Amino acid sequence: MRFDAFCDALTRVEALSADTDIVAAVADLFAAADADLPVVARFVQGRVFPAWDATTLDVGPRLCYAALARAAGPNVSGDDVERRVAETGDVGDVAAELDLGSQQGLGAFTDDAASALTVAVVDEELRALAGTAGGGSESRKEDRLFGLFNRCTPDEARYLARLVLGEMRVGVGAGSVRDATTDAFEVPPEAVEHALQVSNDYGLVARVARDEGETGLRGLSLEVGRPVQAMLAQAGTAEEALDAWETVAVETKFDGARIQLHYSGEETWVFSRNMADVTDALPEVGEFAERSLAEPAILDGEVVAVDDDGAPLPFQEVLRRFRRKHDVERAREEVSVAVRLFDCLHASGEDLLDVPFAERHARLEAVVDDAEDEGEGETVPELTLASDLETVETHEERALRTGHEGIMLKNPESTYTPGRRGKNWLKRKPDVETLDLVVTGAEWGEGRRASFLGTFEVSARVEGENEGFAPVGKVATGITDETLADLTERLEPLVESESGKAVDLRPDLVLEVGYEEIQTSQNYDSGAALRFPRLVAIREKPPEEADTLARIRELSRGE
Ligand code: AMP
Repeated sequence: MRFDAFCDALTRVEALSADTDIVAAVADLFAAADADLPVVARFVQGRVFPAWDATTLDVGPRLCYAALARAAGPNVSGDDVERRVAETGDVGDVAAELDLGSQQGLGAFTDDAASALTVAVVDEELRALAGTAGGGSESRKEDRLFGLFNRCTPDEARYLARLVLGEMRVGVGAGSVRDATTDAFEVPPEAVEHALQVSNDYGLVARVARDEGETGLRGLSLEVGRPVQAMLAQAGTAEEALDAWETVAVETKFDGARIQLHYSGEETWVFSRNMADVTDALPEVGEFAERSLAEPAILDGEVVAVDDDGAPLPFQEVLRRFRRKHDVERAREEVSVAVRLFDCLHASGEDLLDVPFAERHARLEAVVDDAEDEGEGETVPELTLASDLETVETHEERALRTGHEGIMLKNPESTYTPGRRGKNWLKRKPDVETLDLVVTGAEWGEGRRASFLGTFEVSARVEGENEGFAPVGKVATGITDETLADLTERLEPLVESESGKAVDLRPDLVLEVGYEEIQTSQNYDSGAALRFPRLVAIREKPPEEADTLARIRELSRGE
């Protein structure tokens, strides 16, 4: 496919706003992409590499501006380009307005400067650019990029500049590509979803959908060495878990960094939560795999920093090891890490994503032979199956007593859903000190709750010069209808102004609010935001006795 044809399609897509129109336009583009379909499916999302591949182009704005300026001729400098991007806010517009081309010199395609670019050539050049490393790599990258820009039409320059800077922004996200694949090649959405989950490669999935149809998509499976997205957890309580499932699988929650361990029987790969390859930074994990894994497998777990007795150390310690590229051996002497594993996605060639968690856990225990690791603590945490609160609480107490962060509550029947933050994994951390905060705003609910105020803005008291109340979070979930009615009755007389569904309230009512942690926030003037704030109780105390912003700042510093 010619690159100008691809860019024409992007121009058309960019002008659309309805999702269905975008999907239809992308489906047309896919149908016309021929051999370039995998690349087109990535480029359209602003990707050069598949999602599982952590390779980056490593082209910063300055390098891109310098290459553009060179292709624009001697009257334009990198600084000029930078200034114009700052003015317009879009490198694509600036690139399209420059008079590119016909420049000679190193990297220019002097043999055939007028020849049309193709999608395949752009892909090849960008991959070569990503592979440029070592001394002088910056200038060789610039040469390559200059060579490409020098052959570009204005529209091609627009999209190439956006692509290399990772700012494609034509309104095509992962969802549109998934739906376009389904529509263009008339395959069931579930088959596409399955294929994406196991491969993390939109290009591959589009090609298989076109060439091999549903059977091909269903035949795609996990591959040792190719990471998948990690399943995520929501905050939750033991009561919620026991309500939702007959039995609850309870595990220790480790305070470390997520890893996905791939072992082929000979080789080991370790991937981070973002699917970056961190194998070299964590040699212990490879050694562990060779020593203790009985069969090829893909396992999900955590690396934790431990002291000499195997007791857990704070999370920060593990970070010192995680992304280390140099002096790994020295770092290893300073901080030891241990492997904790809690799931098995694949073993001896068999995908287990659709197998219930309890069975996957049994499979995990069969794969890991940690007899030799005694003294380091248990590699595979014991799974307690609980059907009453007491059992959960006993496990929680033990986890906290031995220095862990909390517990995980999992549905024993649930499948493994990569990349999803579903309700089948709940994380429960111990309650931190609650705060007494003043309600300063709220929103009228919707549907059944239209006559109730909800989504309560809670504020801390500010003392001194700026005396008043500063919002630190919104309490929205987990409130019963009865409490909502009570709160509405108390708050309605305090309404000072309304705009749409939102109301401003005179600061009067104090709520006791629980939360998971205090984060720094740009959204709030207070600079602090509560993570997962929830209502504990209504306090019968005046706003002058509410907790202060100064107290919140102390708490966030761990004081
Ligand atoms: P959080 O980082 O607070 O969102 O908690 C979820 C994270 O806890 C997961 O992404 C894992 O990295 C980590 N984790 C620790 N222990 C476990 C466990 N037993 N099962 C699942 N996730 C765990």
